[in-house]
Amino acid sequence: MSIHRAKTSTLKLGDIALIGIPFDDHSSFLKGPAKAPLLIIEAIESDSANYFTEDLMDLADHSDVCWLGNAPLQDYFDIESIIAEILKGGAIPFSIGGDHSITYPILRAMSASYPSLSILHFDAHGDLYDSLGGNRHSHASPFARIMEEGLAQSLTQVGIRTLNDYQQTQVSKFGVKVIDMRNWSPDIDLNLSGPVYLSFDMDVLDPAFAPGVSHHEPGGFTTREVLRMIQKLDLNIVGLDLVEYNPDRDLNGITAMTAAKIIKELLAKLLSFQK
Ligand code: MN
Ligand code: MN
Repeated sequence: MSIHRAKTSTLKLGDIALIGIPFDDHSSFLKGPAKAPLLIIEAIESDSANYFTEDLMDLADHSDVCWLGNAPLQDYFDIESIIAEILKGGAIPFSIGGDHSITYPILRAMSASYPSLSILHFDAHGDLYDSLGGNRHSHASPFARIMEEGLAQSLTQVGIRTLNDYQQTQVSKFGVKVIDMRNWSPDIDLNLSGPVYLSFDMDVLDPAFAPGVSHHEPGGFTTREVLRMIQKLDLNIVGLDLVEYNPDRDLNGITAMTAAKIIKELLAKLLSFQK
């Protein structure tokens, strides 16, 4: 079984365009996420599992779910133009792999199409540093850039468990809604009105469930808790990313398989919302 292959130029209105972002130049601690996209697609297409989502949707029936391959990148801001191109045809861009710095150029493209976007961000980290190691495009900084440029009208962060004084100041400055791990409960309502961009950092999961990430932060979600949250969402999602899978840290490909599972359930959510 394989995902329908397509080119950006042949996308149709409402297609869900999976695109690999092989980029980790702005990782602060370890490289690796640039290698993520092809391994995650390989996991989705693995013969070890079937193509059904848990609500019995057969993804094999959906030629509107397309894999565009890895984006050809020369420069960080090529990400913006590549996503803009996908949006031009009315497709939903779903970026796979890369470090979290990719979300800033993606949001520059998204906000041009959706001026009043809300962001739902799953992460162990707030990624709100003005800069890290002198790098304002660090993977620890995308949401500082996004909020100061007004690329989204709201930012809701779920699973945070690394706040410090500085990040707390940034949270207040940008009016971020933080649902931190300590205060999380399965009943929390994550539904937002209007168009939503969903950004999923794999390290929101507990490292016991997803060891293949650069920054192991214990005390995170189980895979099942994440799947339940996704399955409960009732949102108009217009763009997504799944970032920070680091294959160099993975064990037996379990994190790639977990990423694949999360992507499948997100696809089920997108497809059911379009019906
Ligand atoms: Mn992150
Ligand atoms: Mn993180």
